[in-house]
Amino acid sequence: MPELPEVETLCRQLRQVILDRRILAFDVIDPKIGTLPGIIGCRVTSVNRRGKGLEIGLDSGMALRLHLRMSGKLLWQPVYHLPWPHTRFILSFEEGRLLCIDPRRFATLSLHAVSSPGSLPAFPIRKADLPGIKALAEKRRIPVKMFLLDQTVIAGIGNIYACEILYEASVNPEQRVCDLSPAQWQCIADVTEPLLKKAIRSRGTTVSDWRDLFGQNGENQHHLKVYDREGKPCPRCGTSVLRKRIGGRGTYYCPSCQR
Ligand SMILES: [Zn+2]
Repeated sequence: MPELPEVETLCRQLRQVILDRRILAFDVIDPKIGTLPGIIGCRVTSVNRRGKGLEIGLDSGMALRLHLRMSGKLLWQPVYHLPWPHTRFILSFEEGRLLCIDPRRFATLSLHAVSSPGSLPAFPIRKADLPGIKALAEKRRIPVKMFLLDQTVIAGIGNIYACEILYEASVNPEQRVCDLSPAQWQCIADVTEPLLKKAIRSRGTTVSDWRDLFGQNGENQHHLKVYDREGKPCPRCGTSVLRKRIGGRGTYYCPSCQR
């Protein structure tokens, strides 16, 4: 599933190809997507990320909100090809077209009023967010790893980056979130934004099927410290990285650095 760095990558690449362009056609191939009246002929005025979702602002004052969910992908085709298998909709512009390919059909597309730029959160777990996050965490007894994945609390972080953030912050993923010290929270806040920004610069992490808007693999998998590295040495201390299921998700950590 695309996480914040992957969606931000799509967002930046979309700006390169659809900003100021007019929508010429909207072809719904999977009827489950639904109809979006009034978008043909509209010009794209903005492309922004909201958590793990995308918002494409239109000159009508409305905005398309797209969430890729489990298996959704976006692909830009500068010239006409036959649609890929599992294409669910196509937005056509003069210079090319945008395909949403989604084998599991969970992606959603809907029409809303465009958000004011100030309402779009840039990165999760900033220093200013800590009082609110800590207040919620104090009431929860779940492992911190599961808490970081709760999209109602912290938008944009998924399994890969939750493992990497806890490793960088030297926090055990199984530690109960209500027991984290202020110093541990500070450490998590300090590492999160740089880690996500680095992943964005690398156009995301391709450990399974992530591809960017132009069909290319990301590069961040080469910089992972623990995720998908079971049995390999911790870059900091050399101890073998362990994998454990926490809340049903494969979790990677260093048992020495993350006691
Ligand atoms: Zn270690």
